[in-house]
Amino acid sequence: MSNPEIRTTCPYCGVGCGVLVSVDEAMNVSVRGDPDHPANFGRLCSKGAALGETVGPDNRLLYPKVDGEVTDWGRALDHVAGEFKRVIETHGPDAVAFYVSGQLLTEDYYVANKLMKGFIGSANIDTNSRLCMSSAVAGYKRAFGTDTVPCSYEDLERAKLIVLAGSNTAWCHPVLFQRIRKAKKDNPDLMVVVIDPRATPTCDVADLHLAVRPGSDAMLFNGLLCYLQDSGELNALFVERCTDGADEALASARASAGELDVVATACGIDTDTLREFYRLFARTERVVTVFSQGINQFSFGTDKVNSLINCHLLTGRIGRPGMGPFSFTGQPNAMGGREVGGLANQLAAHMEIDNPQHRERVQRFWQSPAIPGQAGLKAVDMFQAMETGKIKAVWIMATNPAVSLPDTQRVRAALGQCELVVVSDCVEHTDTTQYADVLLPAQSWGEKEGTVTNSERRISRQRAFLPTQGDARPDWWIVSEVGRRMGYESAFDYPAAVDVWREHAALSGFENDGERDFDISELAGLSHEDYQYLPPVQWPVSHAAPQGSARMFSDGHFFTRNGRARFVPINNPQPAHAISDDYPLVLNSGRVRDHWHTLTRTGKSPRLSGHIVEPYAELHPDDATQYSVEDHGLVRLHSAWGEIVVRAQVTGTQQRGSVFVPMHWNLQFSSVPSVDCLVSPATDPVSGQPEFKYTPVAIEPF
Ligand code: SF4
Repeated sequence: MSNPEIRTTCPYCGVGCGVLVSVDEAMNVSVRGDPDHPANFGRLCSKGAALGETVGPDNRLLYPKVDGEVTDWGRALDHVAGEFKRVIETHGPDAVAFYVSGQLLTEDYYVANKLMKGFIGSANIDTNSRLCMSSAVAGYKRAFGTDTVPCSYEDLERAKLIVLAGSNTAWCHPVLFQRIRKAKKDNPDLMVVVIDPRATPTCDVADLHLAVRPGSDAMLFNGLLCYLQDSGELNALFVERCTDGADEALASARASAGELDVVATACGIDTDTLREFYRLFARTERVVTVFSQGINQFSFGTDKVNSLINCHLLTGRIGRPGMGPFSFTGQPNAMGGREVGGLANQLAAHMEIDNPQHRERVQRFWQSPAIPGQAGLKAVDMFQAMETGKIKAVWIMATNPAVSLPDTQRVRAALGQCELVVVSDCVEHTDTTQYADVLLPAQSWGEKEGTVTNSERRISRQRAFLPTQGDARPDWWIVSEVGRRMGYESAFDYPAAVDVWREHAALSGFENDGERDFDISELAGLSHEDYQYLPPVQWPVSHAAPQGSARMFSDGHFFTRNGRARFVPINNPQPAHAISDDYPLVLNSGRVRDHWHTLTRTGKSPRLSGHIVEPYAELHPDDATQYSVEDHGLVRLHSAWGEIVVRAQVTGTQQRGSVFVPMHWNLQFSSVPSVDCLVSPATDPVSGQPEFKYTPVAIEPF
């Protein structure tokens, strides 16, 4: 007999699907899509449907460990607090760091950010969300003044044209792909354009596929900006009343991308195909441009984001149904982490760390001793600072940087250099936990309580439905207990997750007279029961919009100082490292359909593991011939940063000159190191996002 179903949220991607979970007497977990959740209306993808297979006890971290010995919570927490205090007293607050995760719940994230920025007095807290969507954040902020996603999922159904730029939606955001497929079936006039160097499964719904050269998207959108002006398809009234900088952006675009054939050559596509896309975009009022890691993961990802936002600003296609530039986030709570200031260059509640007024306001609200005046180190820089000895103690929460950061050998060397590595996670054995001096067992999905925010700004509850295994605890509790032991008792006195939530919500509305986008102050007074039954809601949830807000900027007002959106002039940016005779191919890494991140969860499911059983390198038949590679033969891939041996897959879906390798496999789950050991550590100077989509490599038979 099953117990009543519990309503919760899928812990994988940024779609944020609602799920209904039941647990029978034998503790078997059944999962189905929540028909009432507005993200998925009952749909699930393969990963969500297999969640019940991934909650078992194998490889769970069950008890605190210090130097490999099991201990109790009191001793472990005293040790962590004491060691952090020792390092801070000896070397200053910037000698410590937190590296956190888009897997954390908002409540966990809030407390970690508060402890580091408000009480330790350093901004050295960054997150693995830096790796997936920080260029989207930076692009939105440059254009709108704030990190504000303007759209809702329902805009996908209301659009007449959906442009999917650098997004393998079919595999990475599968339920949104299902929604697009259904929208197209219901409305045969809906056109879909896919912009991607690879012919991915997303092309199944494409009316037009632009197989552009890797990294040429800014050129493509600059060319579109010029075309829109030349064809008269601009919204002059919107540009004049609501924006700044159009002339500069157009001049900059025209300098490199004013001629159609020049753009077509640079993008590696024929002029007729390019013109067809431009015509389609120009004549269609309701356009949603979805963008994801293929745009963001470049050393000029922020410029690429702004190049596509510029096109929406020139046409005024923002803030109305069925239109807007729409970032699909990778992780379940990448957005929630942004809300609480989980990036090293942010403060809480979408306030800015380099804004003295914001710092003073947050410090007063937290009653904290000091908030640093400068941004902390972003993810790649943070690990390089460990390597050079600048950072001596790090606390890694719910993530596996020894696999997922670029240039992983250097990351491992950096962890080996630290005086103290603390890892709190629900998983015991990973490539990262082997470097830990202290392991702290965190509750897993199904055991913990809190909230996450998906790609459309929708806050949903994650609810517990399983007893906690071992002696695991919520992340917010673990961080709070360390904070209390460091001497900040009253600031970290949270009896339950709802108490953290109330403070977070109250801060969002604190002295916020509408100049800040993130406001959920209407939810600050939730009772324990209200919090338990909180329905999914899109922020802002303010006095002016108590039921939430589906769409932003409908009034043409943005969150810049003068209320006007900003065009950003984009030149013709290039990747940090060009291909060469030694490294003639471009490596691109990404997800596969049935796996998540570093396999710690999906690797437990036989069903999911059966889809693709091992890592591979996908390359074009002509490249296979040129480099004497046989289909299914082993190949050695090497770059200036490392090498791996994987099996080749020769396929026409891969464009000539490029190699694709999935990101998931690692030494803990296979004999193959992560593909990220090959990846260049170059980052975007604005966002700090690494260039996962463009590393020069060589290939040879093994
Ligand atoms: Fe979970 Fe994403 Fe699949 Fe939805 S689309 S079920 S959130 S993995």
